[in-house]
Amino acid sequence: MDFTKKFNLGLTLETGYEEFASFLETYHTYIHSFYFSPPVDRRLHTRTKVAQAFWLPGKKRQFWKMLALIKSYGIELELLFNTLQLDAELIGKTAQQLARNGVEVDSVCFLGDYYDAVRTYFPGKKYILSFNNGYQRKAQIEQAIEAYDAEVFVLGSAFIRNNKIFAYLHEQGKQTYLLLNNGCSFNCGTCNNVLSVCEKSFQENLKHHSVEYLYALQSIFPHELRDGTIDPTHIQCFKISNRSSNLKFLRGVLDSYITGRVDDYVRADTNNYAFWGRAGYFWKHFSKMDLQKIRQYKEQILHKDAGERLYAPDETKRETE
Ligand SMILES: [Zn+2]
Repeated sequence: MDFTKKFNLGLTLETGYEEFASFLETYHTYIHSFYFSPPVDRRLHTRTKVAQAFWLPGKKRQFWKMLALIKSYGIELELLFNTLQLDAELIGKTAQQLARNGVEVDSVCFLGDYYDAVRTYFPGKKYILSFNNGYQRKAQIEQAIEAYDAEVFVLGSAFIRNNKIFAYLHEQGKQTYLLLNNGCSFNCGTCNNVLSVCEKSFQENLKHHSVEYLYALQSIFPHELRDGTIDPTHIQCFKISNRSSNLKFLRGVLDSYITGRVDDYVRADTNNYAFWGRAGYFWKHFSKMDLQKIRQYKEQILHKDAGERLYAPDETKRETE
């Protein structure tokens, strides 16, 4: 499978500039775009850890240098407004700060609420509807197509194996970015950074299913992009959640998807399960999970019509193991 310019990655500050430059040297041909939240205001950041990284000495300067280096490779820069409680003033201030630092973004990924402000301050950019908009049903996507003039939908969770929705978006002239490794429970209902809600859905699901089953359902192994479980024809980019991890993590994720290797990584460190599904509540289960069981569940998922059967979030509870 050809992964040239296929990955949409998060810009992590858990690295020095030189290490990042060497990473780009190795992987730039596979990278379509980097998404990032600039150091303008705490509200732009979901994770405290990511926000705090900016306060270390020299990190802000390193950040702007990294953006320039990314640009020099012809890789797209994607600005995020995907957190709650932003307003037009802050979106305008962000546009100013970027201009002051000589950064021109290619695309803006946002929550629907910020559409007007994004259009005002970032006219003519590629507009991307964030995963955090929480689309779970086709009707919501249809409404969003009507409401926003956006080119791209970022899909994940309940949609991860819904090949029909990727084809539908393509017919509508839209692109899909598929979030590969951060799938929340299909019946979670909200992933708008409300982690306690996600944890609660997961605990509820654990009463009915094994952790291996839930992980198999919510994670994406490399073979699923190759064997038809997920049809990549109409998927423009594979989005990776990686911003709170270092570059070693990101190298592992990319290598695994590109080469198809899974077993070696799990054998080396069970925390590497996070490569393919890193929702926070799974981590404490990783060391006890049985890879063979996960593979069996993946096999079952493949031999049902995953797109149909696993489409509606409510259906997941009725799945038999
Ligand atoms: Zn969730």
